[in-house]
Amino acid sequence: MNKKVVVLGAGESGVGAAVLSLKKGFDVFVSDMGNINQRYKDMLNQYGIQWEEGQHTRERILNADEVVKSPGIPDKAPIITEIKSAGIPIISEIELAGRYTNAKMICITGSNGKTTTTSLIYHIFKNAGYNVGLAGNIGHSLALQIAEGKNYDFYIIELSSFQLDNMYNFRANIAILLNITPDHLDRYNYNMQDYTDSKMRILQNQTEEDAFVYWADDPIIKEELKKYGIKAQKCPFSILEKNGMIGYIEDKQYVIEKPTPFNMEQEALSLTGKHNLYNSLAAGIAAHISGVKDESLRKSLSSFEGVEHRLEKVARVGGVQYINDSKATNVDACWYALDSMTSPTILIVGGLDKGNDYSAIIPLIKEKCAGLVFLGADNTKLHAAFGGLGLPIAETHCMKDCVEACRRMAKPGYNVLLSPCCASFDLFKNMEDRGEQFKDIVRNL
Ligand code: ADP
Repeated sequence: MNKKVVVLGAGESGVGAAVLSLKKGFDVFVSDMGNINQRYKDMLNQYGIQWEEGQHTRERILNADEVVKSPGIPDKAPIITEIKSAGIPIISEIELAGRYTNAKMICITGSNGKTTTTSLIYHIFKNAGYNVGLAGNIGHSLALQIAEGKNYDFYIIELSSFQLDNMYNFRANIAILLNITPDHLDRYNYNMQDYTDSKMRILQNQTEEDAFVYWADDPIIKEELKKYGIKAQKCPFSILEKNGMIGYIEDKQYVIEKPTPFNMEQEALSLTGKHNLYNSLAAGIAAHISGVKDESLRKSLSSFEGVEHRLEKVARVGGVQYINDSKATNVDACWYALDSMTSPTILIVGGLDKGNDYSAIIPLIKEKCAGLVFLGADNTKLHAAFGGLGLPIAETHCMKDCVEACRRMAKPGYNVLLSPCCASFDLFKNMEDRGEQFKDIVRNL
């Protein structure tokens, strides 16, 4: 009898997991409670994989030997509770895929900076001529690439906490932990420790041959590390101190100490902002320990163009610089965006709140902002948090009104910054849609 695998959720990762399972000779069934995108339906049909949408057929699902759960499905979903009570193992797509490759795995997690750092490492490895694939949360299924026989030497994998939750035996050869700040608490019973535990799973199964790259200034990571006996080679980085660090900034020099000394002018780094110093240090360390040549690393760290929707300069209109940071879906990301502003700023904030505590950004708002524009279906919490600051406030519920309100508030020399601290699903399809609408309207001002 073939092993029976059920894949829950038919997005990028679920369909990849289904194709890989089929190629491994398993009986596969895909079930999605929502509607499956036509592109993925076509792919499943092409492989002759059975699927259903708009429902979960319990009998069939509970008959599985193993379930692969897509990261978007919360643990609280009733079908997940049933699968757990039936004692059926639930794994993530990355866990499944990891069983069928010997490629070196470079894995990046953290509350913020994952996509930027993952893309930067990929850029460095590609330019260095490495045979490298890009996978994970960044939108490319690892399982699908392995199923299609891609024979990469390295995979650069962005891992969300939801993917880490269902990973057990997977081993990261280089694990990168950028930071841990509150995010997605709605999926973790509003319990910060549960979310933290999930992030720390990136360390599990690492051996002495592996490396663990982490931001040493992060107070939560510092505390957590006291609890773990880390076998991997530790590679901490900091911008505050150099003692005990593998990577740091000193006298405007970007420095990596080991395995051989590397340095370059901080000015020459293409990414700007304090947060991007962390990202550039993490990426540089991973590349350096993977043997990327110094000159190649310098060139790549200077030529990386950044990722769309992350502090992306859109246009200067009437002397006002419009900046799209739609990906700032939590308070910490907005903190770094505000920190990097050098002129008076009109901040666009709001959307679907994931349990935010706005107090961390109040001092920066007082220092940097000349006005606030709220953009959400329900802005009540924003009024409560920021109403007393004495700043001009505009209340809007669509992007057109929002940009118009910004245009009215901003004077020449100002920035308008979309860095909303919140998810986008109340008014937009996703954060990309929010960023695109912002850019379109700004470009037509
Ligand atoms: P992620 O994939 O973890 O969501 P991104 O690279 O997409 O991270 O960036 C998300 C948001 O966080 C953006 O608004 C970006 O400007 C900000 N950001 C990027 N790197 C960091 C960092 N190291 N620390 C804090 N904020 C960051």
